[in-house]
Amino acid sequence: MENKFAKRTHLVESSETREILKVTERPEIISFAGGLPAPELFPVEHLQNACAAVLKEAGESALQYSTTEGFLPLRRVIFQRMSRIGINTNLKNVLVTSGSQQAIDLCGRLFIDGGDTIICLSPTYLAAINAFKTYNAKFVEVDMDDEGMIMEELEKKLIENPNTKFIYTIPDFQNPTGRTLKLERRKKMVELASQYNVLIVEDNPYGAIRFLGDEFPPVKHFDTEGRVIYISTFSKILTPGLRLGWICADEGFIEKYVAFKQAADLHTDSFAQRMTAKYLELYDLEEHIHKIKSVYKERCTVMLSCLEEFFPKRLSYSKPEGGLFIWVELPENVSAEHIFSEGLKNNVACVPGTLFFPNRTSRNALRLNYSNMSKEKIIEGIKLLGEVLHRELQKETTFLDSKLTVN
Ligand code: PMP
Repeated sequence: MENKFAKRTHLVESSETREILKVTERPEIISFAGGLPAPELFPVEHLQNACAAVLKEAGESALQYSTTEGFLPLRRVIFQRMSRIGINTNLKNVLVTSGSQQAIDLCGRLFIDGGDTIICLSPTYLAAINAFKTYNAKFVEVDMDDEGMIMEELEKKLIENPNTKFIYTIPDFQNPTGRTLKLERRKKMVELASQYNVLIVEDNPYGAIRFLGDEFPPVKHFDTEGRVIYISTFSKILTPGLRLGWICADEGFIEKYVAFKQAADLHTDSFAQRMTAKYLELYDLEEHIHKIKSVYKERCTVMLSCLEEFFPKRLSYSKPEGGLFIWVELPENVSAEHIFSEGLKNNVACVPGTLFFPNRTSRNALRLNYSNMSKEKIIEGIKLLGEVLHRELQKETTFLDSKLTVN
């Protein structure tokens, strides 16, 4: 049949990550590739009780269509969480979405005209790149250091790109680097957004998973003009399978989000919303998050000490204080894709960093996830990956040396 796809469908390649994840699902593979939470921590029994209670007390409403804005008691809890982390808001500013991924996609629908510029970190979250790409966004990448996005660079890019619609930022334990935007830079980002009249989309799925160091207020905390759209999720603090996220933004924005969400899916799963609200009524989410944090802290510490022990000394890597990821930087001439395929041959998987650069500007880094594997598997897997790296980096030196001789 002749190709009937819309022109924009060529803007997104078939998901390379999905292909990668497919391979890494083989049972013999030790996978540091996905961004999956630890499933053994999911409060299955508590959710089972919440589920039974919802069906018993409000089965008919839970299975009926409901409002686009979301289930009120759940929105109330979200609103309280927002207030607790320093976001001055009210209920009308909260919209429940089908995962925070839908919130990201809705930002594309609402704000991006073909050719508009999105400013983001270099590197940044792959599924956001793909979401914004479907609206034909142009990506301008801003460099980062250990303290997050570099503000001087951001200002330069804002001056060079007057048609920027928004800055997309993941301030806490960023995916893929695990790095956090420091306090002064959060304030500065809001100041710059105001000065150059752009919006900020603050994507914050990991902020609650801080297991070391001091908490910073979200970027939105510094927003006095309604310029920051805050997005978060229950995926990392409860379970991702329920697909519950939210947007917290000015009422004017929320009205538009509601209209566009209605067109996309009418509303987020009513049963999942009610079950989660019941879970939150019956159990202590903070206690649950505390458990998650202590397990991830241990796994992260184990992975960092294995990197120290088994990886070549000249590699550098991030030292996250929360979240799910460590970012490993390889020497300039080493291809992450090559290390990825050599790793797979040795039954260990990671994600090649190339995928996280929207303009494919860099290829020499790896993303490692520590939340989804046991301590024992982390030790075994990092040892294996270390052997691969020692071997391949040796070749790279030999290759460079021989090239020098030939020339
Ligand atoms: N934003 C970031 C930075 C993420 O890493 C993820 C998922 N890993 C999401 C958004 C989407 O999460 P969800 O749709 O499950 O809420």
